Amino acid sequence: MSDTLYIVVPCYNEEEVLQETASRLKYKLTELMEKGLISEKSRVLFVNDGSKDKTLEIIEQLHASCSLFAGLSLSCNKGHQNALLAGLMTAKDYADAVISMDADLQDDINAVDGMWQKYMEGCDIVYGVRSKRKTDSFFKRLTAEGFYKLMDFLGAKTIYNHADYRLMSKRALEALENYREVNLFLRGIVPLIGFKTDKVYYERSERFAGESKYPLKKMLAFAFEGITSFSVKPIRLITLLGFLITLLSCGMFIYTLVRYLQGNTEVGWASLIISIWAIGGLTLLSIGIIGEYIGKIYLEVKSRPRFFIDKLLLDTGEDKLEAEKATSAKAE
Ligand code: UDP
Ligand code: MG
Repeated sequence: MSDTLYIVVPCYNEEEVLQETASRLKYKLTELMEKGLISEKSRVLFVNDGSKDKTLEIIEQLHASCSLFAGLSLSCNKGHQNALLAGLMTAKDYADAVISMDADLQDDINAVDGMWQKYMEGCDIVYGVRSKRKTDSFFKRLTAEGFYKLMDFLGAKTIYNHADYRLMSKRALEALENYREVNLFLRGIVPLIGFKTDKVYYERSERFAGESKYPLKKMLAFAFEGITSFSVKPIRLITLLGFLITLLSCGMFIYTLVRYLQGNTEVGWASLIISIWAIGGLTLLSIGIIGEYIGKIYLEVKSRPRFFIDKLLLDTGEDKLEAEKATSAKAE
């Protein structure tokens, strides 16, 4: 008996791409089933992240038309990472392994075969890694690659050029469940889990329809989230900066004293003003960054639930009953 695969797809206002994505995924799953590689109970689980368009209706139609499609709908828009987590945590109860991918299929779905192959060879986590970024705009490529390098420099363990296209086995997902943080940055958390891991390379293509749901503002917020959730280096850098400035001011003190002894005390207005501004600015900046960490502690201490499930549409294949459960608070 082969293992069950679930493909989890977070969707936010994806009405333009969903039909096409669904048919391509159905083709892929059927192909794998026919080869006997995955069980008949394998599914595609679409997670509706509080979309404002027809995404939920489309998911419901898909589910009604074919039992390969399952749906999960969140109570409101919770963001990509939370939607993905909701899907993974739901799928892990039914699947042996779960692959997460975006609704726009920018990530080549043929990499699924490679991932499954590695899973069957005993890997618990298989990362999809973009080998080229030819189709991304110059700006997106520059910012994205710069971000991976910065994360690396700051000491957070992330996989270069890997987004959220990955396979995780049931036990890796069970391990993931133990990370209770609210400031979710999955590509930083997953490498902390360990177990046997591998990579599969693919080429990233363009979105075939619709617009990116990650405008620059969201992208920057996401990068900042990643850095402050995974690295305390910014705080260390502040300490270092403070130390250097103290040294500098010692030098300035000696310099001023010498000028004073020479009888040249009137000089220095400019440097005085400049240092006031510089030190004022640096102090504010430092307080701001420290505040960022305190803000995070605040959020973690409150440990608010990360999502609520409104609806689960799933036909597991064991009983043909329509499993339409109104489940509440999957992850407290
Ligand atoms: N997404 C989501 N909730 C959000 C924003 C995005 O579930 O609040 C989903 C979106 O539907 C897509 C995936 O996250 O499946 C990645 O988004 P997108 O393709 O727009 O990002 P990009 O590829 O441009 O970085
Ligand atoms: Mg995309």
